[in-house]
Amino acid sequence: MKRLYGLALTTLLTLPATAQEAPDSAAVAKARHDYEREAVVSCRLNQQGDTLLTSDPSIRIVMYPDYTWRYIKDPAVVQEDELFSRNWDNVSVDPYHTSLESLPYSWSIWVVDSLGSYHCPNHVDVYSPYGVRHGRRHQGVDLPLKTGDPVYAAFDGKVRISKYTGGYGNLVVLRHANGLETFYGHLSRSNVNVGDWVHAGQVIGQGGSTGRSSGPHLHFETRWQGYSFDPQRLIDFKTGNLRHRLFLLRKRYFNDNSKFAQTDDDEEAIALSDAEDYKKAEQERKKAEAAQQQWHKIKKGDTLSGLAKKYHTTVSAICKLNKGLTPKSTLQLGKNIRVR
Ligand SMILES: [Zn+2]
Repeated sequence: MKRLYGLALTTLLTLPATAQEAPDSAAVAKARHDYEREAVVSCRLNQQGDTLLTSDPSIRIVMYPDYTWRYIKDPAVVQEDELFSRNWDNVSVDPYHTSLESLPYSWSIWVVDSLGSYHCPNHVDVYSPYGVRHGRRHQGVDLPLKTGDPVYAAFDGKVRISKYTGGYGNLVVLRHANGLETFYGHLSRSNVNVGDWVHAGQVIGQGGSTGRSSGPHLHFETRWQGYSFDPQRLIDFKTGNLRHRLFLLRKRYFNDNSKFAQTDDDEEAIALSDAEDYKKAEQERKKAEAAQQQWHKIKKGDTLSGLAKKYHTTVSAICKLNKGLTPKSTLQLGKNIRVR
């Protein structure tokens, strides 16, 4: 099977050369062989298959080992669009600073054109939806997962942000060729760097509970011009399917709040507090935290710096764990203090 596939590929690659029919000396044959090998190797993409060039420099053909194939846009050409340089930085949730008034009333967006693809970031029931809950605003949807579970890029795009922030924890932000941005928060780790081009379905990180999130989940946002809108308008997370290929984004999906970052983490906790999964996860977290605690009964001669050394920590870390304790406090004999 593999050999057949190789043969098919070689035939395709050699076709133009055969048509020209150059004198086929050993040197030419070797050069052509090396060139072909190089072409195949240099175009290897994500181990998904091999890519072939077409007459349009921006479009390539990807061939998969099961004989299927499809057209893709060449990321290098797509990225030349000024969309990937204007209003571009690696820190701001909203690098656009566009006023709500200046946005059009509606805007059609090709979510996937005939050359684009899609993959559900985390196929699971939403347990905390977008919008106002308990008087506070939630800029995305929360999708439960286990720490370490893969998180997938929803569409092809370029990594604009990959960093730790207080509210989102480890956050990855992708910008897509249609101008949409997708946000992936609370990751236990990010697999991508700023400037990387990623493909729909590529694992961009692992789920987790970083930031001040309570319990492992993916916080997923969709934004346009810095304004968030409900990702469920676009994706049916329950089935994992995209709702539209051509999406009509309406101004009324946004409001003045939707340009703000998700910074207040209590907000997440409050939004989640109804969910059974959340309550369970919170109990587990507290149990795990309690199991890790270490206490020390003060004996004669104990000093804070001595304890810090003994328990491989620092004086300030111990002080933080014990209310009212400062580096200058006198340690009371027989008293239990928390050291870890
Ligand atoms: Zn959230």
